[in-house]
Amino acid sequence: MIQITDKTLCCGCAACMNICPVNCISMKADEEGCEYPSVDVCVCIGCGKCERVCPVLSPLAEEACDQEAFLVQNKDERVLLQSTSGGAFSALAESIIEEGGVVWGSGYAPDSPALVVTCFAVDTVGKLQSFRNSKYLQSSIGYAFRKIEEQLRDSTKVLFSGTPCQAEGLIRYLGRPFDNLILVDVVCRAVPSNAVFASYLEWLEAKTGKKATQVRFRDKRRYGYHYSNICAFEHDSEEPFYSAGVESDPYLRAFFSNICDRPCCYECRFKKRYRRVDLTLWDCFDVGRFSKTMNNNKGATRVLVHSEKGALILKDIQPYAHVEQIEVDRAIDRVNELFNSARKNPKRSIFMEDLLRMDGCTLMETWFPDNLRVKAERLGRRVAERFGVYDTVKFFLKKLLGK
Ligand SMILES: Cc1cc2nc3c(=O)[nH]c(=O)nc-3n(C[C@H](O)[C@H](O)[C@H](O)COP(=O)(O)OP(=O)(O)OC[C@H]3O[C@@H](n4cnc5c(N)ncnc54)[C@H](O)[C@@H]3O)c2cc1C
Repeated sequence: MIQITDKTLCCGCAACMNICPVNCISMKADEEGCEYPSVDVCVCIGCGKCERVCPVLSPLAEEACDQEAFLVQNKDERVLLQSTSGGAFSALAESIIEEGGVVWGSGYAPDSPALVVTCFAVDTVGKLQSFRNSKYLQSSIGYAFRKIEEQLRDSTKVLFSGTPCQAEGLIRYLGRPFDNLILVDVVCRAVPSNAVFASYLEWLEAKTGKKATQVRFRDKRRYGYHYSNICAFEHDSEEPFYSAGVESDPYLRAFFSNICDRPCCYECRFKKRYRRVDLTLWDCFDVGRFSKTMNNNKGATRVLVHSEKGALILKDIQPYAHVEQIEVDRAIDRVNELFNSARKNPKRSIFMEDLLRMDGCTLMETWFPDNLRVKAERLGRRVAERFGVYDTVKFFLKKLLGK
């Protein structure tokens, strides 16, 4: 039976829970808020399916295939603005729904007041919005794989999108290809501990006096695509009561300093060029290298096509999105998150100890204070953005600092 003694060996995809024939596995959050399988040994029949299905313990071999690469930008300005990159996912999803299919993705759990991200299905275009902006949180799969299998066996067309480990978990769970399944993964830097997000929400409430009912990552409305930020909203308001950039916000600073990720993300087994999914999606911040028309600070998605099915669906999205082919080797060149795991911050264990003993406010202010350096960087970024030289300054600074 599956027993996780080394946490770097579990990505939390829940394939084991889904496959268990006697339902003796449940996913339980540890003190860092990351889910791991827990087996009821009294019920377990020792069939070993849980270990065999695990994409970490029984990994899929990387097999070279013909690939194509594209840049995609959604034609609907509203959808493009809401999407974190170019809205390719929404275009794919819309085309599947128009054909009567269902779309599985991750977003804040509908019908739950808590800001937890889960994997769920939608079958109307209007509900696709729930999948945009819930980045940098690990989504809980629950029994999604079982429901997906039922739909596939009923001949429903299904689009599933997840992190690479979730997608491989589903592939292992299904055990065979389905013509009516389109699989998409998003390039994933890492997923952070959900307990750190809970602490951050505590800090946010203490700082602003308001309780966030929605938190959106990479909201483009104020500073465009290139300036990574986070916004918090109350009730149904479309105006954020809090908005901060990557240099100031404690949650983004924690995430981008690799101090709070799920342990297996530091040794991610799913970083590779050739994948078993049909399409891989990720950002294209350096869009100017590839396209003049899409270089408008509104966002562009890079898409790597791994299969004929993937190539066909990219043709189908042309009513919804601008699609430009680019050279594969150039598209993946120096894309660190596609190939390399996040490098664990040496202070991670001290930070996690503090997480367990400090309230959210103290934790965030101790580790990520709004000091003079942060204030200066914030001012610099905003001035550069206002004068339209943000990208140029960022490019030269990165060169200067050798990043
Ligand atoms: C945890 C995470 C880390 C990422 N890291 C990087 C990175 O380092 N570099 C990079 O270039 N791109 C990264 N991405 C991908 C990128 O942010 C966009 O999701 C991708 O480019 C598709 O953008 P879009 O505009 O087409 O769709 P969007 O509308 O922006 O995103 C929708 C898609 O994101 C999925 N999604 C939303 N929240 C989650 C979640 N918490 N877990 C899993 N899936 C989710 C939805 O299911 C849907 O497929 C990351 C995404 C996630 C979720």
